[in-house]
Amino acid sequence: MKYRFSLYLKFLVGYLIFAGISIWFVNYYAAGLITDRLVAQKAAEMYKQAKTITSYYHNNSTGESQEENLEDILKMLRVYNAATNASLYLINARGDLVLSSAWTELPDPKSDEPLTHTDFDAARFDQGYYLRGDMLSDLTGEKDSITVYSSLTGSYHITGYIVMSMPMSVVLPESYYLQRIVYTTVAIVILLSLIILAVFTVVVFMPLKKITNAANEYADGNFSYRATVKSHDEMGYLAATLGYMAEEIEEAGEGQKQLVANISHDFRSPLTSIKGYLEALLDGTIPPEMSEKYIRIVLDEADRLHKLTQNLLLLNTSGSKGTYLSCTSFDINHLIRKIALSFEGVCVRRGIHFELVFTDRIMMVYADSEKINRVLYNLIDNAIKFSPDKGTITIETFEKNDKAFISVKDEGIGIEKDDLNKIWNRFYKTDTSRGKDKKGTGLGLAIAKDIIQSHNESIDVVSTPGVGTKFTFRLPLGNGKKKETV
Ligand code: ATP
Ligand code: MG
Repeated sequence: MKYRFSLYLKFLVGYLIFAGISIWFVNYYAAGLITDRLVAQKAAEMYKQAKTITSYYHNNSTGESQEENLEDILKMLRVYNAATNASLYLINARGDLVLSSAWTELPDPKSDEPLTHTDFDAARFDQGYYLRGDMLSDLTGEKDSITVYSSLTGSYHITGYIVMSMPMSVVLPESYYLQRIVYTTVAIVILLSLIILAVFTVVVFMPLKKITNAANEYADGNFSYRATVKSHDEMGYLAATLGYMAEEIEEAGEGQKQLVANISHDFRSPLTSIKGYLEALLDGTIPPEMSEKYIRIVLDEADRLHKLTQNLLLLNTSGSKGTYLSCTSFDINHLIRKIALSFEGVCVRRGIHFELVFTDRIMMVYADSEKINRVLYNLIDNAIKFSPDKGTITIETFEKNDKAFISVKDEGIGIEKDDLNKIWNRFYKTDTSRGKDKKGTGLGLAIAKDIIQSHNESIDVVSTPGVGTKFTFRLPLGNGKKKETV
């Protein structure tokens, strides 16, 4: 696809522009700067030397003959010439050559040969003390050299100049050497950035391509496709998130079916209880004088169904999976007594006995009472189902570390160690329970766990086969009058 290529292309073009600008900079800018700097340095050095000669002249010009002076200056010109490779000249104010470092001795003072005129012109230096170009090429034969001068004064006017000329061929090799260093550095930087480009390709571009491929697959409805990005960085995270999203979407279809099963389960329990009481009332198992109490229980259960329907409608409109909590502070002990009472029918029939162990008469918890009602109902329902006749079911509430603990313990068949983790799975039933409880859907505990976890609390089980089972869950403590909605 075209758009997938364009990001990489942008980086590539960016890289080429960067490399081009670097090379241009070195060629047209850095090289010139280096040479200029070296010329200035060399000129400063030469100027110092020229200045040394003029100051010598100024200090020694009095009391000695002109001849002796010139001889001393010629010596100095020759010494500096030997030391620096520069050509040095003494040129008078008219521009005539008086002395040259190339001479071994002074010209014959008696000769009437006129002095050679040079093209030296101090006006061309334009404020500065050095000039690069072909000045003095008539003497040196160099077309490109650095020329420096220092004025000689006598009686307050310029009498001549010490002029020093250094061919550029002395400076250029050093300039080339420094340029080579810069060139090499730039080449290394360009190569290193090529490595960055390669790393970018591997670390960003390739994973991005895989992620884009995955996104395209998802767009085509193939949710089982996974981008194989294993890196522990933003790319890996992005791929994992995308994979997770696909998984969620894939599971959503499955979830819909489970939701229907959960709903049916929640409807079945109260309906069974209503049906049982009504049958008992009809066939006279419950004597007429007791009927009011049981009709009230039936009414309670019908109310529960009504509320359940309302909750479901609420869930449906919110589109959430069931994490909708309506928390209030309520007395869990009271709720337990109420639920225990709703099981009285079956308990009486099977001789099962409830033992309620409460450390305090009232224990306030902060939770969604409707949902906790469902949890307790499911746990007690299980405890009764898997208990032998005449068994005891102990329901205990206590406070520890600022939390409320609620446990439901039975003396029933227990759960095998291998099954302990699986009982929380939706639709899971142990083999033994299939024989005992044919109607169970295997959803009760899954719903209970969902509810407790949506309260950010935990539910645990300990069980010994043949001895009994104890489920314990935790809830936040509530206070007397607090009433809030989360
Ligand atoms: P439903 O709750 O929908 O009627 P169920 O009771 O079989 O069905 P769960 O409540 O989720 O489903 O329980 C899952 C399984 O865990 C049970 O089938 C049973 O095998 C085991 N189990 C749960 N509670 C107990 C218990 N108190 N004693 C022994 N086994 C239990
Ligand atoms: Mg159950």
